[in-house]
Amino acid sequence: MKTAMRFGGTSLRAAALGVLALAGLAMQPAAAEERAKDLFGARKLPAVTAAQSIGFYSKGCFAGGVAIPMDGPTWEVMRPSRNRRWGHPALIALIERLSRDATADGWPGLLIGDISQPRGGPMTSGHASHQIGLDADIWLTPMPSRPLSMAQRESISATLMVDEKTHLVKDALWTPAHTRLLRRAASYPQVERILVNPGIKKKLCDTVRGDRTWLRKVRPFWGHDYHFHMRIGCQPGSPGCKAQETTPADDGCGKPLAWWFTQEPWRPNKNPDAPKARDLMTMANLPRECRAVLDAPGPVSAEAATYRGGSAAVAASEPEAAPPPPITTGGNALPASMNAFTSTPEIGVPLPRPRPPMN
Ligand SMILES: [Zn+2]
Repeated sequence: MKTAMRFGGTSLRAAALGVLALAGLAMQPAAAEERAKDLFGARKLPAVTAAQSIGFYSKGCFAGGVAIPMDGPTWEVMRPSRNRRWGHPALIALIERLSRDATADGWPGLLIGDISQPRGGPMTSGHASHQIGLDADIWLTPMPSRPLSMAQRESISATLMVDEKTHLVKDALWTPAHTRLLRRAASYPQVERILVNPGIKKKLCDTVRGDRTWLRKVRPFWGHDYHFHMRIGCQPGSPGCKAQETTPADDGCGKPLAWWFTQEPWRPNKNPDAPKARDLMTMANLPRECRAVLDAPGPVSAEAATYRGGSAAVAASEPEAAPPPPITTGGNALPASMNAFTSTPEIGVPLPRPRPPMN
């Protein structure tokens, strides 16, 4: 009996070890499928390489990112604890330029919302896009005259510009300066799209006189009622950056806008708890170069990779990693239905201006 028990115990132990070994094997694919948002969300500093966007706005990453300084003469970064003030140097330069131009237009400076994580990729919360360093959210609330403390930047709310029931802009809040700000942002050749709430698009459609060509770039989308979203095109030096379809040539004030004022876009989500694409993406869903971006060395500090007016401090006490090789595949595609920004076929896009000089 005793012997049998011991034998039985040994067998059990052996069996248990076998299960553990199997579990160990199973761990490897599980680890490989770690969520990309957790891996990219954990990177506090950028990949120190030449600036390069890889993949699509909602499925990619970027290297050589720089941070916009927390404060400038004409801007303040909001929600600093999120560490999302990183972007392609061309985007950061353009945001700074917009802040100066907008101030000259009578807007008292920009409050800057989310740009990207230091190496882009899917975010731990929020946005589907903002993954390749070419998207930025800018508040529709002007910069207050007194500097905001870091605590205030975490806590104060942006102004909701749109009535949630009618989806129309609150007329008491909208000013000609808001229109000028959006027109200025749309005026830059690098900017391909500006996303705003349909109510804001309608306000522009109803009120803009004279040149209306810029309305083409202003696109209605859910949300975007506290801020607008500025998207620039793929930049030179990014062969793996996947361009978005150009917007139609008309002002977009006709039928496509009317759809937003029907019931259809606002039907309650039947499955509100269903995970979003950014929650499910693994490294296998991203372009394979994003693994190299994730693993590339970082700068010594955020300060060392902070953009300084045209000469980005690309930091560099660490050896430069070789830039990732040109992209050849788009990674394993997620079902299109899972992606709010379904990628579009490659088409010719106007070449943006050369990127700013870098050290
Ligand atoms: Zn955005």
